Amino acid sequence: MKRIDLKVWFDCNNMCLFCVQGDKRFKHKPRTKEEIFAKLEEWKKDWATWVVFTWWEPTVHPDIIEAIKYAKKIWYTSIQIQTNWRAFADYNYCLELIEAWVNEFAPSLHWFNPETHDMLVWVPWAWKKTVVWLANLQKLKQFVLMNTVITKQNYKELPNLATLFIKLGVSQFQLAFIHILWSADKNKIEIVPKKSDIIPYVHKALDIGKKCGIICMTEAVPFCLMKWYEWAIAEYNFMPETEVFDAECTIESYAEYRWNEWKAKWSQCKICKYKNICEWPWKEYPEIYGWDEFIAVK
Ligand code: SF4
Repeated sequence: MKRIDLKVWFDCNNMCLFCVQGDKRFKHKPRTKEEIFAKLEEWKKDWATWVVFTWWEPTVHPDIIEAIKYAKKIWYTSIQIQTNWRAFADYNYCLELIEAWVNEFAPSLHWFNPETHDMLVWVPWAWKKTVVWLANLQKLKQFVLMNTVITKQNYKELPNLATLFIKLGVSQFQLAFIHILWSADKNKIEIVPKKSDIIPYVHKALDIGKKCGIICMTEAVPFCLMKWYEWAIAEYNFMPETEVFDAECTIESYAEYRWNEWKAKWSQCKICKYKNICEWPWKEYPEIYGWDEFIAVK
């Protein structure tokens, strides 16, 4: 099934220190309703049935409900909204989105500790509102795909976060290693952890998810650091091919774009048994910590 990723708006009501979109919010106008409808129609002619309304924050777009209804009208069967949380603390807004036909909710929560979460997304009460929202979605029996960005500040909390997600009834969670672009690049010394430091906590969080029968996965953690946990590597096991309607261009294959533009390999990768399927680390990562952690798997 073809998945499309439709960025409707480049503004956001958070100001996360690890944001990969950075200053785009000051450079690009929101997409108009007509542009969104036209893009949905164009992709529909190409047999797309799965649309993700996404960054920046789609819930602040004035026409988001109409856009979702239009996607349903022209037969998109899977409609996902990726969001930071805010509007959904309101139960009625959750109902409005469900009635419009959102059937996958993809929010993010990054810390088990509320104060740390609020500080790193720069919004007071953000953690509490996200948790209220998740409880609302749980009551409404919705499909929730949770996303957590792994940083220096949260990696030791990942097992606790996994336990919290399970209590809140999420259907799936993904632990994504921070992508070192824009705001994340500016703050890299403070927030980018060493991959080998995070691994024991990542594995423990995956153990918790697996034991409870939850789909759980990692993003941007190569095979050589995931021995016995290869089943959780999102790029290899879970990520569907996606076309992305971004601010400046359309990326026809997000997977190819990641490999060709965003990832880097080194001499060990050439002799590694995973060389044809591994996506390697983000190319900015070795500039901070070098390559020593990535040893070829024989
Ligand atoms: S050595 Fe390179 S190819 Fe092998 S798993 Fe690690 S990053 Fe991937």
